[in-house]
Parts: sequence; C-alpha cells; structure tokens
Amino acid sequence: MNRVGVLALQGDVREHARMLTALGAQVTLVRRPDELASVRGLVLPGGESSVIDKLARAFGLQQPIRRAIAAGMPVYGTCAGLILLAERVVDGIAGQESFGGLDVTVQRNAFGGQVESFETELTVEGFDSPTHATFIRAPRVVEVGPAARPIAALPDGTVVAVRQEHLLGTAFHPEVTGEPRFHELFLDAVRSA
Ligand code: GLN
Repeated sequence: MNRVGVLALQGDVREHARMLTALGAQVTLVRRPDELASVRGLVLPGGESSVIDKLARAFGLQQPIRRAIAAGMPVYGTCAGLILLAERVVDGIAGQESFGGLDVTVQRNAFGGQVESFETELTVEGFDSPTHATFIRAPRVVEVGPAARPIAALPDGTVVAVRQEHLLGTAFHPEVTGEPRFHELFLDAVRSA
C-alpha cells in the first residue's frame, strides 16, 4: 500500500532507504521500469546527476519517470536528485538532461572553492524548529518559476528547498543527518496522492 521507491542507479541510495523504512514505508530499489510501476512515490538520491541521468536513459527509465511525474506521482529529490527534478539546469555536462517537473532553474556545483561542502542551520517553511542541513558539492536554485514555491533559503537569500504540489527538492541531504521531516512530507504526499 505504502510502497515507495528509491532510484538506485548511483548515489546515496541506502541512506534514503533506511530513512524511509524507519518512517514505516516499504521500499523498493528502482532500477527497471517494472520496479518503477510498482511504487507510489519515488526518491531521487544525492550522487552525481550526470551519471544518474545517463544510467536512467540507458536503463529505459527516463521516459517512464517523466510520465510518472506528469501523472502526479510524488517525487522527492535531494542534491543531485534536485538537479534531476529541475526543469532547467545550468552548468550541467554536455548533453546532460533532467527528468524535469519542478519549475525551477538549478545551477550545479554552485558553491565553489572552500565552501564546496558546508553545514548550516536552516529555517524551513512549516517546520517548528530549524533543520541542520549538510551541503555536499550542492546545487542552488537560481530561479523559481510561478508553479514552484521556495520553502528554505540561506541567509543571503539563496533558495535551497522548493515544493510544487507533489514534488519536493532540497539542495542538501536530510538522509545523511537523520532529519526525517522532509521524507515525512514526501510520504504525506504519497498517502494523499
Ligand atoms: N555535484 C553533484 C551533481 O552535480 C551533486 C552532489 C550531491 O548530490 N551531493 O550531481
């Protein structure tokens, strides 16, 4: 009933599966279209978005995932997963594609040099206390289109979390810090889809 998938082509698949299982979901690791067809929601993990994109195309998953997103399946993307969920990607590798759906422009590897990886406390819309967020070669949201809504930003205004109906994206990794509230939002969307 409450079966959700984690796209398991590359990246921090295990951390997401562990979090979702801890929250009571049944988890399928998705590598094939028939596995995708068996789940009611999908998590796109952190990792390397260009690699996940290539593998998704090679495994025949790109079009099924696009169709599932268009049909209203809840999807939550973290970091590389946010890049894959973005309608528009800046600084991708040559030929890099995304699944799209989330009405945002995302810039890959947007925090250069010494701040490539960092941690910070973030206020998130709808949360009653801040979250401790870990950014690892993270993207940032450089434009939020009219369909999407920013729900968290860095002190300088850089948007790092976005919601849009059944879609959720964060530039950071709650699955690494043990922060359950984003996965709960995702599972709520699955329950009400
Ligand atoms: N820099 C990676 C990419 O472009 C994302 C890093 C991450 O997921 N932690 O896909």
